Amino acid sequence: MDLVYDVVVVGGGVAGVAAAIAASRIGARVLLLEKDMSFGGVLTSALVNPMMTFHSPARQVIGGIGQEIIDRLVSVQGSYGHIDDPIGFVKSITPFDPEKMKSSLIEMLVEEGVDFLFNSLVASVSREGDSISTITTESTGEKNRVNAQVFIDSTGGGNLSIRAGAYY
Ligand SMILES: Cc1cc2nc3c(=O)[nH]c(=O)nc-3n(C[C@H](O)[C@H](O)[C@H](O)COP(=O)(O)OP(=O)(O)OC[C@H]3O[C@@H](n4cnc5c(N)ncnc54)[C@H](O)[C@@H]3O)c2cc1C
Repeated sequence: MDLVYDVVVVGGGVAGVAAAIAASRIGARVLLLEKDMSFGGVLTSALVNPMMTFHSPARQVIGGIGQEIIDRLVSVQGSYGHIDDPIGFVKSITPFDPEKMKSSLIEMLVEEGVDFLFNSLVASVSREGDSISTITTESTGEKNRVNAQVFIDSTGGGNLSIRAGAYY
């Protein structure tokens, strides 16, 4: 299938979900691609829990969509929010229920009008000059060619950039 979007975000960890929501809020048509079957990346697939930390020693320094995710989790009893770190390693820790994180991220993306595809591994990248023009995703028995004006690499390992030939 051939797909055309303004912005394609590759990788549905928390960074990719936040990037997709931010792009959609400024009016872009956005597609989020994830090779696995859920969002949250290592937070949900590798059980990196609790999150540390949203605070400097003096105040909260991370807000925005990250905080919106926490607010959503609190509203569905999926987190206590930010609590003092009992061992004092950092100012606060943010425990969460990984399954409620997965469903909350899907709900937020749907509410923001972001299209998404699971089981979509970006397998190849075509360039025009220094820019990515098209990527090809593979899932079981199916290939998609996706065109966009902007591609965002949120794979956590630079996988899109490397396939595009970026130096690293
Ligand atoms: C054990 C551990 C403990 C940590 N502890 C802390 C901590 O205490 N505090 C802290 O701030 N940070 C911590 N981190 C780091 C933090 O978890 C990560 O930096 C952050 O979660 C990364 O989020 P991300 O969205 O950038 O990437 P990821 O969560 O890695 O998400 C990347 C997503 O891209 C997808 N993807 C990859 N390649 C492709 C492809 N080719 N096509 C399609 N999809 C693709 C993956 O499936 C994944 O869902 C820890 C990490 C680990 C592993």
